[in-house]
Amino acid sequence: MKCPEHGVDYETVRTMYEQFGVILKDVKALRCPVDGEELFTLEQAEAIRQRITTLSPRLKLVRKITRAGGKPSIYLPPEIVKEAELKIGQEVAVYLADKKKIVIEAAE
Ligand SMILES: [Zn+2]
Repeated sequence: MKCPEHGVDYETVRTMYEQFGVILKDVKALRCPVDGEELFTLEQAEAIRQRITTLSPRLKLVRKITRAGGKPSIYLPPEIVKEAELKIGQEVAVYLADKKKIVIEAAE
């Protein structure tokens, strides 16, 4: 496939792609060697769409913050605990990914 603007063959590269805050690494794209413009073939775009579908949350449940022992608490949905393969007594790390996103991650 040739760049219509520069008349040279596109090179296939691996790049990064971001959509809705989801960053995909190692995504195949075409790049014009003259100006570095990147584009995706239909197949490459479809591969990206599939990877994003895989990454987007399948389990997203709403919980209310309650008070337990005088501290703000939420109950973890059992479906999420199961899917994340967490166990009672296991340690998790809690941190802010950004101002509106709290991450609970299995501790190493
Ligand atoms: Zn070009």
